[in-house]
Amino acid sequence: MTARILEGKVFAAQIKEEAARGVESIKKEFGITPSLAVIIVGENPASQVYVRNKHKTCEELGIRSEVVTMPENTTKEELIAEIDELNLDKSINGILVQLPLPAAIKAHEEEILNRIDPLKDVDGFHPYNVGKLVTGSPTLVPCTPAGCIKMLDFAGIEIDGKRAVIIGRSNIVGKPMLHLLMSRHATVTVCHSHTHNLAEVTREADILVAAMGKPKFVTADMVKPGSVIVDVGINRNAPKKLVGDVDFDNVKDIASAITPVPGGVGLLTVAMLMQNVVKAARLQLQ
Ligand code: NAD
Repeated sequence: MTARILEGKVFAAQIKEEAARGVESIKKEFGITPSLAVIIVGENPASQVYVRNKHKTCEELGIRSEVVTMPENTTKEELIAEIDELNLDKSINGILVQLPLPAAIKAHEEEILNRIDPLKDVDGFHPYNVGKLVTGSPTLVPCTPAGCIKMLDFAGIEIDGKRAVIIGRSNIVGKPMLHLLMSRHATVTVCHSHTHNLAEVTREADILVAAMGKPKFVTADMVKPGSVIVDVGINRNAPKKLVGDVDFDNVKDIASAITPVPGGVGLLTVAMLMQNVVKAARLQLQ
């Protein structure tokens, strides 16, 4: 068997189409253009690429985008003051602080992110939004896991009643993915670096989500024949060469569907961010 390849660009286009329709309806109903402010601190080249990509996608969908560039030596207080200003600015619907922060303020990341108005928190990282997700009333949900669920839906892959296994328990991917899959009535197991007999658990998965950050870690013997493999991992194993957490070449012969890296889940994240900007604008207008 050769798996169906779940091409990120196909599903990202569908997610962006939905977002563009949302932008249009807000413009018609309220006469405003949804807007996103992205704060980038320092000169991390990868972050600069991500921010440019977000800006470009906003423009493509008719979302107003503002990039706030702050120097490497920005203090925690200066960054918080900028967030406070954007929180009060009624013309801004979404605020995102590009991570990672420079080393000097990295330790304050939680305090900084928690300063963002929860209604403008388009990354979905604020404890208020995390609480809404956990209690079953999701509003602004982290973009990568939310994008994966959209992809499964667009691909016509059933979640209800399925056995799902997630490798990784981060706040950005693993934990929100647990709640999203559980809310869709999957039976979910979360594995992490202390899990014993990992392969035994992953072999039970109808849907296996790899989000650990270990190149090609998930090998064919860890996968149940016919399962759906969602590879969230992005690992740089040589300059300009990206690989996922899954040994794609071998696993694709066993799975029924699989996301490639690059060209898979990575493309869904920015598309889903656009939907969160639309959602944030609606939350503020209600
Ligand atoms: P993280 O480092 O915060 O978490 C990694 C998780 O993997 C931890 O919970 C850890 O317990 C688990 N883990 C590590 N080694 C393990 C092992 N040997 N066995 C079992 N579990 C193990 O990472 P993250 O932020 O969740 O990101 C995970 C991966 O996803 C990274 O490669 C990252 O680059 C990628 N990522 C991609 C996107 C995207 O847009 N596609 C978004 C976010 C993260």
